[in-house]
Formats: sequence, structure tokens, C-alpha cells
Amino acid sequence: MAIKLMARQIIEVDQKDLLKKLTTAFADEWSAYYQYWLGAQIAKGVMRGVVVAELIEHANEELGHAQMITNRIIQLGGTVTMLPSEWSKFAGCKYNAVKSENSLTILQENIKGEQCAIKFYDSLLKELHCKDFVTANMISKILEDEVKHEQDLVTILEDLSVCCK
Ligand code: FE
Ligand code: FE
Ligand code: MG
Repeated sequence: MAIKLMARQIIEVDQKDLLKKLTTAFADEWSAYYQYWLGAQIAKGVMRGVVVAELIEHANEELGHAQMITNRIIQLGGTVTMLPSEWSKFAGCKYNAVKSENSLTILQENIKGEQCAIKFYDSLLKELHCKDFVTANMISKILEDEVKHEQDLVTILEDLSVCCK
């Protein structure tokens, strides 16, 4: 016997569309995790240690976001069996390939990624506001992290441009 979940009945947005957007977020968080993780492995140059520590911290937080989104997709009856090769197919943000070992370039590429994530989550949050409190609350927490990520990277980049041109 299938029990109709109240948790799904209270949502006042189109659930198919919501699951589609969460699937996009799922793909983007895995890409963000990978981009940070890879950058942390290969970064060289100016203040390498500082940059790598920040990249690793952010990588772990992106993985945490992927976990939160996965939990919500499952609660909503969606599917999370995406192949890594499909990340770009479902992506909302372009994956900024790690092309350089230069720590400053890596920071700049990651800032672009954060800015895309901030725009995406901000618009999703505005859409969900008062219509799906549980997802909105989760997106709000993720957005707060992305805003902090952008700030942290920009601060490091500014510090480096003062000390180490
Ligand atoms: Fe994230
Ligand atoms: Fe982030
Ligand atoms: Mg940070």
C-alpha cells in the first residue's frame, strides 16, 4: 500500500519542475566539489598553502551541499542515479575546467563558479519563498555558504595582489 506523503502534498510549486532544478543543483555541486578538489591537488605558486587549505575546505562544503540536495530529492520522490558523465548535461553552471596550476588563476576560476551558484540559488529561493519551506530553508543555508565562499576567495585574491604581484 502506497502511503501519500503529506510532506509532498504541502508543496505549492510544480514538483516536477522543482525536482528538475534540484537535479541541476546536484550536478553543479558535484562539479564544484571536483573543481575545488582538483585545484587543491595541483595548485602551485603564490601562497600555495593558504590557497590549498581554502580549496579543500570549500570542496568539503560542496560535498555537504550535494548530500543535502540528495536527501531532499529522495524525500520528494526523485532519482539521484546520475552518471558523472551526465553532470554537464544537467548542469546550470558551466564547469570551469582547471586549466592552470597557478594558484591565482585557480582562485579566479572558482570565484566564477561561486558567482553562478549564487545567482542560481538566489533565483530558486525567491521562487520557493513561502511555497516550500523545507526546500527554501535548505537552499537558504546553501546560498549562505556560497556567499561566504565567494567572499573568502576574493579576500585571499586581494591579499595576494597586495603582497605578491
Ligand atoms: Fe555548493
Ligand atoms: Fe561554493
Ligand atoms: Mg572558506
